[in-house]
Amino acid sequence: MDLEKTLLRKTGEAVARFRMIRDGDRVAVALSGGKDSATLLEALLLLSRRSPIEFSICAFTVEQGKFLRPIEPIGEYFQARGVSWTYFRDAPSLRLLEDQPGHGCDLCSRYRRRAVYEIAHDLGVNVIAFGHTADDFCEALLRNTMFTGKLSALPAVTTSRDGEYRLIRPLVYVSEDITRAYAESRGIPVVPCGCSLRTGTVRRSLRDIFRELEREHPHLKENMLTAMGNLDPRRLLDTRFLDLERAEETSGAPAELLPILTENA
Ligand code: SF4
Repeated sequence: MDLEKTLLRKTGEAVARFRMIRDGDRVAVALSGGKDSATLLEALLLLSRRSPIEFSICAFTVEQGKFLRPIEPIGEYFQARGVSWTYFRDAPSLRLLEDQPGHGCDLCSRYRRRAVYEIAHDLGVNVIAFGHTADDFCEALLRNTMFTGKLSALPAVTTSRDGEYRLIRPLVYVSEDITRAYAESRGIPVVPCGCSLRTGTVRRSLRDIFRELEREHPHLKENMLTAMGNLDPRRLLDTRFLDLERAEETSGAPAELLPILTENA
């Protein structure tokens, strides 16, 4: 497999399908230190050279005190490629780490989100790109379904609450097998985060399940991603998407189901 071609094709497909990047956009890539966001930055650099539209790319990293090694090498790697990289030590996150060392992901990501918007504002960008992969979308779909009572995954494209930024996830169709292999092939000096060593038990279990199933069904995640773009609401239970009036009138509807179908109308 030509890694670079595959990466470009899958990223390009996502960018085009969800209209993630438009002419004149100023895109900031949230570089987390890991293989995924580094691969994302590489992919967008490649795309920008081939794209018929003009857009600029910069990168930034939020320091929350969780990196296991200094983060500078990865920033310097991209700076050497001509990318402007901003390293932001987030004082509130560092204080949080001192005050509540055992804090959970909810609090940490809330602090990170605030820092990201602050940096984006200072950088004068209008698009923020995150390195969530196909694996993250599939895990999120199962996690949300099983634990939050919502059939949802992650937004491929959305806007910040105040509408100031477009938030995009161009690696939605790119699996971590690809980001891992690509980052290795490019010799990108990825920097692990302390949290990667203590991945939550649910996440670990889901990853184990995927690994096991993918031995026999290697296209499992691709199928899940296709399913996320191909809803059949008639076979789900959300009455907002069911035409209950019609079901009642249709003679073909099984009579014994009608009381059930109309109950929630
Ligand atoms: S895994 Fe670690 S860095 Fe990531 S949100 Fe949770 S606490 Fe924060």
